[in-house]
Amino acid sequence: MSSDALEVRGLRKHYGALEVVAGVEFAVRAGECFGLLGPNGAGKTTTLKLCLGLIEPDAGEMRLLGEPVPSRAREARTRVGVVPQFDSLDPDFSVAENLVVYASYFGIAERVIRARMSELLEFSALAGREDARLSTLSGGMKRRLTLARALVNDPELLFMDEPTTGLDPQARHLIWERLRRLTQRGKTIILTTHFMDEAERLCSRIAIMDRGRIIALGSPRELIARHIEPQVVEVHGPGLESWIPRAAPLAPRKEHVGETLFCYAADPEPLLAQLRGRTDLTYIHRPANLEDVFLKLTGRDLRD
Ligand code: ADP
Repeated sequence: MSSDALEVRGLRKHYGALEVVAGVEFAVRAGECFGLLGPNGAGKTTTLKLCLGLIEPDAGEMRLLGEPVPSRAREARTRVGVVPQFDSLDPDFSVAENLVVYASYFGIAERVIRARMSELLEFSALAGREDARLSTLSGGMKRRLTLARALVNDPELLFMDEPTTGLDPQARHLIWERLRRLTQRGKTIILTTHFMDEAERLCSRIAIMDRGRIIALGSPRELIARHIEPQVVEVHGPGLESWIPRAAPLAPRKEHVGETLFCYAADPEPLLAQLRGRTDLTYIHRPANLEDVFLKLTGRDLRD
């Protein structure tokens, strides 16, 4: 028996001439938070929909909680929770009614979900708001209600498509804390996000996807160690053009983006020595992070 919550092999899907998912392979271990990152149009949402059995693949094998997909996707989905990219709550219903109606899709009786209501609302920091109309909720509250809704069937695995997009920092931190609680309780989470700090904080492993393929996979630390120099010095200011020739031998890799020069190096000291005391340059020295890896592997050109 595999202990993987999701296994994907040779997955392919095309729309017209475009192969949107072009031979994807990965496995999500039970109990981990797995991140799927990639620029817009990389094929992340299509991959998630294929894994849930909501669209038919052209080729490939998938197992969701041990069940073959798409043939037994419906059975597997009873043990899965989904937080879609855009909230699809019913605006005519109260907080509690939204949970009751959603639970009914899983065949869960109203008295059963009413008995769990305070636990679900407590978890999503909505205690005391069961009768609130949807129009009175903030964006963060709606997101938390969508999270509570995804938990009505007590799922083993949660798919979360950009769960914190559009939220303020306080609301994001609360969602992060709740997602950590879920993995501590043994739940598996598959997360897509455009926030690299979020992925770095929450995910034990990350797949970076681009143009329908997985181009890197590993823990955040492994990806940084494998793909990028460990230190970064960002330099800008009026003296930049004249300083670039001096920087050249000191940084093995440099990227000039707009008015900023990103210098990547194992040892930043010679660069910093060059920069100290210069009044025509401003600089930031920081450790390399997942965003540096992401931009190196997927490029800095705008998508969409
Ligand atoms: P991501 O979630 O990484 O932004 P998507 O999986 O949503 O990427 O989309 C990948 C590509 O597939 C995009 O170019 C998108 O326009 C295309 N695509 C997605 N769904 C459909 C569809 N139903 N019909 C045609 N093209 C689609």
